[in-house]
Amino acid sequence: MSFIEYIWLDGSAPTQGLRAKTRVVTVNPGRLDAEDLPEWSFDGSSTGQASGSNSDCALQPVSVVRDPIRGGDNWLALCEMLDADGASHRSNTRAVLRTVLDAGADKHEAWIGFEQEYTLLRDARPLGFPKDGFPAPQGPYYCSVDADRAFGRAIAEEHAQLCQDAGLIYFGLNAEVMPGQWEFQIGYRGVDGDDPSLLNVCDHLWLARYLLQRVAERHGVTASFDNKPMKGDWNGAGLHTNFSSARMRAEGGVNAIYKAMKRLERSHAQHISVYGERLEERLTGLHETCSITQFKAGDCDRGASIRIPLGVKRAGAGYFEDRRPGANADPYRVAARLAATVFDIDDADAARIAAA
Ligand code: ADP
Ligand code: MN
Ligand code: MN
Ligand code: MN
Repeated sequence: MSFIEYIWLDGSAPTQGLRAKTRVVTVNPGRLDAEDLPEWSFDGSSTGQASGSNSDCALQPVSVVRDPIRGGDNWLALCEMLDADGASHRSNTRAVLRTVLDAGADKHEAWIGFEQEYTLLRDARPLGFPKDGFPAPQGPYYCSVDADRAFGRAIAEEHAQLCQDAGLIYFGLNAEVMPGQWEFQIGYRGVDGDDPSLLNVCDHLWLARYLLQRVAERHGVTASFDNKPMKGDWNGAGLHTNFSSARMRAEGGVNAIYKAMKRLERSHAQHISVYGERLEERLTGLHETCSITQFKAGDCDRGASIRIPLGVKRAGAGYFEDRRPGANADPYRVAARLAATVFDIDDADAARIAAA
């Protein structure tokens, strides 16, 4: 008998949160596929996903990994949400990404990597911020060591280990520019056997967010994905998204990247609309961002919308970094939008994606 943690995205708008509940299931030891798990229902009226009079929604497990918190033969099951008729629920943004992949994006063998920034809060103040007043200005905190500048490392480290134990495609971590702010990356890392495809990486990012919130909970701290948790002269939190196709990675692929840039420039507004709640507070043109009203592509430029990293420029092939998404963006929507734009997926589909 195993504990299965069913995890899903709720109906909070515009930023969806995570919910989870546990069920004991008999499974074969050692290995578990999503198809082997039963569907399960939940009360959608308590999650913003249904009305009280017709409240049943269903959970369909789609991605299963080891449960590193319970250990043993216990599993985390990320789910898609279905409405009472068994159709995909309107809040099920994973289906949006599947639609784009099926509409032709899949054949381009895209890989993706997310840099998830987050802020650790206690009593609504970031760790490292005194109860009254402010810490010393930004400068010493990014990638820092020592107790007077790195705040919350125990949480960041515990989270890293849990992601490893779960078998997530976890790339690394670092302390960020604002005190109490950290980053971890999920996605392509050049390891044999990894699956850096869009759907898998997005699933893993949601699972990694779940694990982070569980670790924070254990420490009596809140892990916030707010875009701009502290107003004023403090960096916001982003979800830089690194993206490549088979053609971009092949010799001379940098030309495919420049071609993608042109399409990205034309679709700037559609991208901004799915890149996170209150994004305008973060994309000001200051604090390593480009203004929300402007599209700027740049080599090695951290004030650009899209950056081509130095190594990619030198190699003449590789990937680009979209620096616009906010920390609270939904990776399914970001990946769907990027794939639709870069691979020029049919307008009708793109419209459906943007509206979803
Ligand atoms: P930064 O210099 O912007 O802080 P990081 O070192 O934090 O970058 O993260 C690099 C990111 O790039 C990781 O998420 C990784 O998965 C991603 N990445 C590297 N190569 C590729 C590639 N070929 N395609 C897609 N993503 C990639
Ligand atoms: Mn980074
Ligand atoms: Mn960062
Ligand atoms: Mn980055």
